[in-house]
Amino acid sequence: MSCDFLALAVPGVQKLSPYVPGKPVDELARELNLDPAGIVKLASNENPLGPSPKVLAAVQASLAELTRYPDGSGFVLKQALAERCRVRPEQVTLGNGSNDVLELVARAWLAPGRNAVFSQYAFAVYPIATQAAGAEARCVPARDYGHDLPAMLAAIDGNTRVVFLANPNNPTGTWFSAEALEAFLAAVPEHVLVVLDEAYIEYASASDLPDGLDYLARYANLIVSRTFSKAYGLAALRVGYALSSAQVAEVLNRVRQPFNVNSLALDVACAALADEQYLAASRALNDAGMQQLEAGFSALGLRWISSRGNFITLDLGRDAAPINQALLHKGVIVRPLAGYGLANFLRISIGTQAENARFLQALGEVLQGV
Ligand SMILES: *Cc1c(COP(=O)(O)O)cnc(C)c1O
Repeated sequence: MSCDFLALAVPGVQKLSPYVPGKPVDELARELNLDPAGIVKLASNENPLGPSPKVLAAVQASLAELTRYPDGSGFVLKQALAERCRVRPEQVTLGNGSNDVLELVARAWLAPGRNAVFSQYAFAVYPIATQAAGAEARCVPARDYGHDLPAMLAAIDGNTRVVFLANPNNPTGTWFSAEALEAFLAAVPEHVLVVLDEAYIEYASASDLPDGLDYLARYANLIVSRTFSKAYGLAALRVGYALSSAQVAEVLNRVRQPFNVNSLALDVACAALADEQYLAASRALNDAGMQQLEAGFSALGLRWISSRGNFITLDLGRDAAPINQALLHKGVIVRPLAGYGLANFLRISIGTQAENARFLQALGEVLQGV
């Protein structure tokens, strides 16, 4: 007799669609018998600069302690983040990537009978975390591919415990202004936690995007989440953090794994935080690459969604799947978005100048049927 373990899973999990990551270089190399060295991956919003020398030195220094458990309290990194973010260390929660932080929020405040509100086309982890906790996922139709904040406000009811906002949003790159955020925060009932996911905030200039930290003192229901995976270039190490009131942080601390952030991640994140040169270089490369891709799209007569992240989403106006396939055969990996309900779109992470040029060349060839 065989048992249907899917049918036995909790109802929220039965309905889940698992997260689909960008295709790894080695996987494409195996599938199409390509040389991995010739493959360009612009599919996971990774930092194209590679690790900084300071980060590599910190990795080396950390290796001697591999037999020890990490500092479960993350004392040193929390101190550094608190200083940088103008909060107290008790307001910092560390996560195994900021993804971990999003899940801690869901585990602490979501359950059957409760709901979380987020936008259509928002980051795929919001529905996964919500449904895994057994809560109702309230997906609010997007406006111009971005968050419709007034509609999200209207979707909140007495059973709403969490609202997830991404600014800028992934995968669309859309963003909202300080005025829009202020109006939203002022109107959200105080029992509702607002998770402001700022995974790409380091790429934006202050005049464009609000800084979530500016609102922490005023809104005890605000949780700002950030990551070392993108502009700091540490995606492999998995380290992110949340900034909130001390009480919210204390609740998150109850549900996290005792050693949720590993020693390498703790040590190296401290080094990365101090490496201002690397951050500046990441931003400069991203700005130049964004211009390069936009110019390339214009030349090809293509449309795109303006982005404030380290990626840009292209609107092909027709099914993007065959174009994606053809790009893969040319050794270029980008991210198809059919899983987000955006079948005509491809998301391209900004690469180095050479990677961007290689992608634009391949795209031009594919569109001409070469
Ligand atoms: C990449 C990303 C994250 C976090 O990634 P981690 O590597 O888990 O820190 C969170 N939110 C959004 C919107 C992202 O795009």
